[in-house]
Amino acid sequence: MRSISLKNIFSQERAISRLLQAYRAGRIHHAMIFAGPDGVGRFTTAKAWAKLLLCHNPAGTAGTADSCGICKSCLAVDGGSHPDFNHIYKELNKISRDPALRGRSAVKLPIEVMREFFIEKVASKPLLSSRSVWIISESEKLSVEAQNALLKVFEEPPGFCHIILLCTRLDQLLPTTLSRCQIVRFGPVERQKIIAAVVAAGRTESEAAFWAGFTGGSLGAALQCSDVSTEKVSAYHIKQEIIKQLSRYSLSEAIDFAAELSEKCKSLTEYFAGLERDTGKSDINRRSQAFIINLICSAVSDAMKFAIAPDEIIHNDQKDCIERLAGRLDAETAARLVEKCYESARWIEDSVNEKLLFEQLLISIAKPDMMPVL
Ligand SMILES: [Zn+2]
Repeated sequence: MRSISLKNIFSQERAISRLLQAYRAGRIHHAMIFAGPDGVGRFTTAKAWAKLLLCHNPAGTAGTADSCGICKSCLAVDGGSHPDFNHIYKELNKISRDPALRGRSAVKLPIEVMREFFIEKVASKPLLSSRSVWIISESEKLSVEAQNALLKVFEEPPGFCHIILLCTRLDQLLPTTLSRCQIVRFGPVERQKIIAAVVAAGRTESEAAFWAGFTGGSLGAALQCSDVSTEKVSAYHIKQEIIKQLSRYSLSEAIDFAAELSEKCKSLTEYFAGLERDTGKSDINRRSQAFIINLICSAVSDAMKFAIAPDEIIHNDQKDCIERLAGRLDAETAARLVEKCYESARWIEDSVNEKLLFEQLLISIAKPDMMPVL
């Protein structure tokens, strides 16, 4: 098992130096928010930070402080059995003592989950270390009621207790929540670092460069996408086929193309459903739909960009296709179609019928059929 530690996190130097500064000064805030996009290392950093806070024998000078990796506490964090390391996430409802809560789908992080798994336990003294750490994932999904309950803890946190909220959208947190926490910001991961990581995972340089651009600096998302690479389903093949066809199809082929997209969507959903047995299939399918719509959106954006900055496009590995698409979409049309893609992405959240979703979008992008000469 790979041991987590702050010095092994290569993508978030700024956030980590800020944490270490607080550590060095002995001013460690009891409530922190790790804010930033998905997949940039917020959870990994929170876990490494927790490991340092819990460690019995922190190593290094203060400026480079890190967990020792070998004490009882460090081994327990690595082994997933530390009694003072707590992770709160919305799917905990599945193991609630309340059968009604167990039966609900985990869309939000409701007050009931927070009460049972956090508020009732947060005042308990630590057992193995001198502190206890609570990481709350997807805090942007906390209901107002749950946030109000959290505030009571923030007002008088037990001295040994450290709470870290992971958040992708600060605007979803109440001003009162924000004002009681120290916010540590996490930026996108550098492109070259993502490319190196995806190449190290066994993909080609050009595939890695594509995923780095497509995921906009999310190392986690880039690795997750590139990892879908079995004999049955490969995310990269799916993307190549879609972009190729997108650059060629005409209006009379739009409906067939939409049906193909549905098939591809289904194969991705089946792949992920096999991996994530706790996540509802409709949630996974929405994610597959979003992946496909984002692919189309990125290609249309590339077509818009092509005339001015052909080297900065995301689909650099299929430049010929983007050039073809750009050849028939003027900048104004492409901009309108990008809007249309965003609109389709919003429809996914409203659970609009998948067939309709793809058909509508593809009909609007299709090139007109050649008119028969009379
Ligand atoms: Zn240790």
